Amino acid sequence: DAKKTARGSFRLLDTVVNDEVRSRLIIGSALRRAIRNSELKLFYQPQICNGSRTLYGVEALSRWRHSTLGAISPARFIPIAEETGQIEALGRWSMEEACRQMVEWDQAGIVVPVVSVNVSAAQFAVPGLDRDIADLLSKYQLAPERLTIEITEGAMMHQTAQSKAILAAIREIGVGLSLDDFGTGFSSLSRLAQLPLTEIKIDRSFVMNFGQDVSSLIVTEAAITIGKRLGVRVVTEGVEDATQEAKLSEIGCDVMQGYLFGRPMPPADIGPWMKAFASKD
Ligand code: C2E
Ligand code: MG
Ligand code: MG
Ligand code: MG
Repeated sequence: DAKKTARGSFRLLDTVVNDEVRSRLIIGSALRRAIRNSELKLFYQPQICNGSRTLYGVEALSRWRHSTLGAISPARFIPIAEETGQIEALGRWSMEEACRQMVEWDQAGIVVPVVSVNVSAAQFAVPGLDRDIADLLSKYQLAPERLTIEITEGAMMHQTAQSKAILAAIREIGVGLSLDDFGTGFSSLSRLAQLPLTEIKIDRSFVMNFGQDVSSLIVTEAAITIGKRLGVRVVTEGVEDATQEAKLSEIGCDVMQGYLFGRPMPPADIGPWMKAFASKD
């Protein structure tokens, strides 16, 4: 009967919730070990300039393959890292690893002009992020323009006086500031316009829906217009086919990123990828 069914589904929900809690606990403690033992890796995905089709830069994306749990997606472990107080350590590692890698490419004569690193809101909650970035740049002798920090629109919205000051200080250093997943965070345009951005990165859900609904294209065009008026670069992610690229190119998107050009790859693959890409068409 209905009562029984309800009780049954409560029990099922209970099990699901418990499994989720348990799985988060397991991932959380495995992550602690992974960070300590340097089991995380950064993969890099190419970003292409519209028109010249040259390499604008790469985005660094964290990868983790656990010995028994297998590959765990950052969409899964980043939120857990945030909840379990590990995002600072992870963020510190990823920023330094990206800088170190840039120097390695430089020394090998592989020209990767810019590396973008994702930074989560929680990293802004602790003072000194700007100081850490400045220290890294001087440790690796890198020009600040070669590093971009990506922050999601959602994270930008929850700004405190302190995080605002940190953003301003980061810009002051000369590092790029990109607004990631633009169009998903319901932020007010007037507040957006006040941020010290150098780049807007349109969420991949828009490009994905180009074929299906006209509103995605309208939003993308509007974002490009806003970006141009604000004098910031506009990047789109999730470009998967030539039709999307043609459309984006036509409406004046500055930089494109997506499986069409290249998937996130280990750093050693970037040089060969560049050669292959340059000899295409
Ligand atoms: P994001 O920063 O928006 O990164 C773009 C995501 O889209 C990446 O997923 C990338 O692999 C994926 N992608 C790129 N091109 C395509 C495409 O053409 N089609 C499709 N379907 N997907 C594409 P990934 O690597 O799984 O990362 C997911 C999210 O996890 C990132 O979204 C970012 O928010 C977060 N993340 C990854 N690494 C880090 C990190 O080191 N620190 C922080 N704080 N967050 C990270
Ligand atoms: Mg990103
Ligand atoms: Mg994004
Ligand atoms: Mg995203």
